[in-house]
Amino acid sequence: MNLRIGDISDDYCTRCHRMTNHSVAAMVGERVASVSCRTCGFQHDYRGGKPPVRSRKPKPSAFDQVLAGIVGELPNPSEPKPRRKR
Ligand SMILES: [Zn+2]
Repeated sequence: MNLRIGDISDDYCTRCHRMTNHSVAAMVGERVASVSCRTCGFQHDYRGGKPPVRSRKPKPSAFDQVLAGIVGELPNPSEPKPRRKR
């Protein structure tokens, strides 16, 4: 689908920190160059409608922190499961 100036498209707003509706504000050839957030009005480069990839390790949830206080350790979801021996 080709977008044109003024069309509405989803994109990640760096000010709202979430996916919101955006108006296409500028184009370079067929490519969307700049969009304007329809929630806060912030204009930024088009990010392809994708949220940013988080590089930080996810913070343990409040439930996991309370559980760690009872059990004594934080569960590690990224830890590989031990292999079964045959
Ligand atoms: Zn916004």
